[in-house]
Amino acid sequence: MVTVTGILDEHTDWRELSGLQAASITLDLEGVRRITSYGVQGFMAACRLLPPTTRVQWIRASVPMVLQLGMIANFAGRAVVRTYLAPYWCPSCREERAIELDGGVALAAAPPALCERCGGRLEFEDASADYFAWTLEGHATSP
Ligand SMILES: [Zn+2]
Repeated sequence: MVTVTGILDEHTDWRELSGLQAASITLDLEGVRRITSYGVQGFMAACRLLPPTTRVQWIRASVPMVLQLGMIANFAGRAVVRTYLAPYWCPSCREERAIELDGGVALAAAPPALCERCGGRLEFEDASADYFAWTLEGHATSP
């Protein structure tokens, strides 16, 4: 398991990631708070340097990473997005709740979610109109 955190930009040192030698690599991306265009380029380049036989999967992809998935074709490369985070808001607790969703499920809109503390219904914080659009790629869409 490799944890990627903080701000990914032109100062990020990618050698630890790009030098990994393993049959399978899991990237925990919950801690990625921001990613710049330099960070996108560096991340994609580092992942391309991994051995071709290495299986790569993402878990808990943070909101900034998910937004890039929607904007940049092939941002994940050959990685499988196992899970990702979606930003919700609890009106009762007046707190944000990041809900972990299954990346293999095609979603046209935010699924209903309940607050883990009060059990109330959460509201999706609309970070992007197309937050879930990338989940539809590669899936057959029925009219
Ligand atoms: Zn609540």
